[in-house]
Amino acid sequence: MERTLAIIKPDGVARGLIGEVIKRIEEGGFKIVAAKMLHLTRAQAQGFYAVHRERPFFNDLTAFMSSGPAVALVLEAENAIARWRELMGATDFRKAAEGTIRRAFATDIEKNVVHGSDAPETAAFEISYFFNRFEFVG
Ligand code: ATP
Ligand code: MG
Repeated sequence: MERTLAIIKPDGVARGLIGEVIKRIEEGGFKIVAAKMLHLTRAQAQGFYAVHRERPFFNDLTAFMSSGPAVALVLEAENAIARWRELMGATDFRKAAEGTIRRAFATDIEKNVVHGSDAPETAAFEISYFFNRFEFVG
């Protein structure tokens, strides 16, 4: 079994998409083993996206991610990292496959509703960024 970090980003929460995203996660066969709602500070968003600190969109991205509440979830499944990225769809929703969350709901390359870890090392870092060992079930 593998674990990955999912975030329903501030645009998804503000637009009332928490239930829709969680429905797709559950129907996709993932087990939710940890969950919380949080409003990131700018510094917390910068720490989370530190790998992107040299990218031109870093300032906008961290402003957006700290602009309102978000939902962090730890998903467990066989091959969870790749499967969650498949369910999310491509970063740019215009290139995302039919049936994916971003294709259905994203409005912008930045405001793309959901986040997912991209590798085992980043999943471990990202999960521990939000959750401590007492916050998991199952
Ligand atoms: P995430 O890490 O949020 O799951 P991702 O792995 O598909 O998304 P990354 O390349 O890691 O994409 O970029 C992180 C986030 O930065 C994207 O989800 C998006 O919100 C934003 N982003 C990525 N590329 C751009 C861009 N060219 N312009 C503006 N924002 C961008
Ligand atoms: Mg990424």
